[in-house]
Order: sequence, then structure tokens, then C-alpha cells
Amino acid sequence: MRYFPVYFDLDGREVLVVGGGEKALQKLRLLAKTTARLRVVAEEIREDIVALARERGIALEWHRFKTSDLADVAMVFAAHDDANCDNEVAAAAKARGIPLNVVDVPGQSTFITPAIVDRDPVVVAIGTEGTAPILAREIKSKIEAWLPANLGIVAARATTLRWRVKEVLSDPVARRRAWERLLQGRWRSAVLAGDDESAEREFDRQLDMSTSQSHLSGSVSLIGCGPGNPDLLTLKAQQRLQEADVLVVDRLVNPAILEYARRDAVRIDVGKEPEGPSAAQEDINRILVSEALKGHRVARLKGGDVFIFGRAAEEMAAVRAAGIPVEVVPGITAAHACAASVGLPLTLRRKLRQFAVVAGASTDGTFDLDWSAMAKDGQAFAIYMGVRSAPRFRDELLAAGAGPKTPVVIIENGTLANERAVAAQLSVLPEAIADKGLSGPAIIFVGLDWVTAGLSHPNKLEIYETAHSITHAPNGAETVPVTQA
Ligand code: SAH
Repeated sequence: MRYFPVYFDLDGREVLVVGGGEKALQKLRLLAKTTARLRVVAEEIREDIVALARERGIALEWHRFKTSDLADVAMVFAAHDDANCDNEVAAAAKARGIPLNVVDVPGQSTFITPAIVDRDPVVVAIGTEGTAPILAREIKSKIEAWLPANLGIVAARATTLRWRVKEVLSDPVARRRAWERLLQGRWRSAVLAGDDESAEREFDRQLDMSTSQSHLSGSVSLIGCGPGNPDLLTLKAQQRLQEADVLVVDRLVNPAILEYARRDAVRIDVGKEPEGPSAAQEDINRILVSEALKGHRVARLKGGDVFIFGRAAEEMAAVRAAGIPVEVVPGITAAHACAASVGLPLTLRRKLRQFAVVAGASTDGTFDLDWSAMAKDGQAFAIYMGVRSAPRFRDELLAAGAGPKTPVVIIENGTLANERAVAAQLSVLPEAIADKGLSGPAIIFVGLDWVTAGLSHPNKLEIYETAHSITHAPNGAETVPVTQA
């Protein structure tokens, strides 16, 4: 971030616009919304600027810019059609340390102006550091459509009521909750509808309710955050993230997802590296309970879906045992996200009627899996946490009678910018993982391929040719190069 967004207090201060043409007019229209004192200096000034000046009370001076024009100026816009004049303004402003915008020349400016959605006093500023104005415009129009035109009235009314809420509710958490209810509920609708009487009644009712609650009720949401790409968060997960007072975060949760949380939410990392140090499950349970008992809304963020290898049951039980409400927000599990990302269907009419998820890691080193069932023809499953145990899976499955040519597809960092997809055959699964340098997190699909589905594989797919690794093949299994559509 090269440009830091700030809101500059211009109340009663002087802003100088040098120039009397189109560029100056555009800036003046924006500036006219502020409570700054505006002044225009130019040899010639367009008629519509003169009209705006009359309407808004802008001082006009018909002369060429001179350094002394900057005497009391808080901010200056060089908006002249003559570049020489703009250069003079720029040099003089910089020498005096006055914030300077040379219109349409960010390189010469000390600040640039964002695209604005104006619901005064709610003002949304959108900037792309000058890289993509079209994108800024697109975002602006989306926000324009999303924010009710009279939203500003709600914000302004909230300001006048702030002291009343503060007087009644001394606890900041209680105050925030009360405001959330007011701003999301009937009070807001009444204010927007101009129904002052109902608004007042609803305001009193909400304050009464807040004060009568003897203690704040905490809660826990177990939130599936999907495979990492924030686009795959559900709307409900987004809402819960925004409401949360405390975030209890796993390792596989992409930091980009935390951007959806409130900036002042407390964040507790309990992530664990595979086979590395981690907060013990009992400690995590204790944190969830104790934070919720303080009255906090706790968001327990997990990768993928919480019910798939997410140890959700233990956490739910611990939280419930403490009498705290717990809710589960489903997420997109890694297998689904990875399959979608490479266009690999997980079931096929008539050909693949079942699909399973399998844990490739276990705390005690034993895999209580039904290898012979999994080795049967036409079985399809996704191995989670299986990168390290791939040799074991290969050996067990082949020993149980699986075809050495059974297709396997490994997807690493699915849905993220560094996603990789490798196709190989079961007999050389560990070699494919090692040779391609895959370290995870990865999903290993067994028994799925694009050919059977009548589809072509994605261009980015890396195909692990088996011919050169025949010597590694176990049990003298026959291996031939993978043929992919
Ligand atoms: N609850 C999670 C799974 C947790 S177990 C879910 O539903 O997805 C952790 C395993 O998930 C990793 O070892 C890996 O196998 C898989 N995984 C998680 N994120 C992944 C991603 N972006 N790409 C591929 N696999 C991923």
C-alpha cells in the first residue's frame, strides 16, 4: 500500500483550486460538498464555475497564479489547462509542504483523490492507487446500488443518540451489541422511513432490553472457512466473522479471510503444523468456553468444513457442557473445492455411485481402514492429510488388489494462487509426490479421472509419466505412461 487512505478535516479551512476550466470544475463540484472555504485563481474562469461559485459561495480571483496565493491554504489542486502553470503551483506547494494534487498527474501529486460514494456523513472512498480507475468505478457503482440513498440520515441520527446509549450502557460490549441491533433492525428502518415516532419507541425498547439483560450472553460459532480462497466463504460465515468479538483460528485458515472480521476483534491462534506443536484440543475447548463465558461472541475458524476432519464434535460437546449455545456454519470442504477447481466430477451417473473422504493421518499411527473395500474397482475417494502417508496407502491398496493403473490426482493448495494439480497412477503415487515436490496441504483423489467422465483435463495439469519410474514400482507391478485425454 503506497497510498494510505485518510479523511482530511477541511472544516472552515481554505482549499485553493488553480484553473478555471473543465478540470477545475470537476474538482470544485466535489469540493463543494465539503465545509471548506473554496477559492479559485485563474486568468479565465468558465461561466459554470462562476455560477457554482455564486451558489456555493466560492471566492473567485481572475489573475495568474502567484506564490503568495498559497498563504493560508490547507490544500491545493493544480487544475490549469496550462502544464507550465501546474508545474509552478506544484513547485510552490511542495516547497511549503502544502498537500498538493495535480489533477490527473499522480506522479507530481502528494495526494490523490479516491472515487467516492457519498452518503454524508457516511463516505466510502475507493482507491486503486491510480492503477485501474475502471475497476474503482465498477466497485463504486456496486456500493452505490447497495447503500440506501438516505443512509446518511441513519448515521447522523446515531450521532445525536450516542450519548444516551453511553449514559445507559457503561459496558462497551453491551453498547456495541445495542448499536448492532439498532442499526440492523426496526430502528434503522423507521429512521429511513422518516417515521420518527416509531424510531423513538424502538430506540427506548432496545435500550430497555439491553439494560435488563443481567449478563451478556456469549456464544460460539464453529465456522467452516472453505479451502482458503475468500470467494468461497459463505455469506453466513462472513456475517459471523463480522459479528465476532473473538476469533479462534486454525492454521489452514487463509489470513485473507480474517480481513472480513472486525479489526478490533481479539485473535487467538491455535493452529497446528502437521506433526508440529499445537494447542492441545482441551486447551482449545477451554479457550472457547472461557471466552464465551465472558459474554463474547466467539468465532471458531476452521479450514474447509468443520464436520470433515475438523474435530468439531469435541468442541461442540465442551461448549454445550458449559451451557453455551453453539452453532455450526458449514464450509466448502477441500475435496469439493479442489474437484471444482480442476473440473473433476466426484460422482458419475451409472459409473460412480459413491464417493468417500478418508483420513490419511492418525494420531496413533494406525489406519483402521477397510483396504479391500477401498481397493475394489470403481471406488472413488479423497484422501485428506495424506501426503506423508502416500507410500502406506499405495502399498496397502495394491496389496488388497487395487489396479496399479488406478488413476490418482493430487491437488495442492487448491483454490489458492499457488494451486498445483498432478495426475499419476496409484503404483507411483509416492514417487509422483516426491518428484513433483508436493508438500501439501493436498487432496489425493483415487479412482477419479477426466476420461471416464468424458471430459478433458485442465491445461495446467502436470502429468507424472510413469515410464521412467518403473524401477520404483512395487510388487513388480506393470506400469505404463498415464494416458490422459
Ligand atoms: N476441515 C477441512 C480438512 C481439515 S484436515 C476441510 O473440510 O477441508 C486438513 C487437510 O485438508 C489437509 O491436510 C489437506 O488434505 C486438506 N486441505 C485443506 N485445505 C486444502 C487446500 N486448499 N488444498 C488441498 N487440500 C487442502
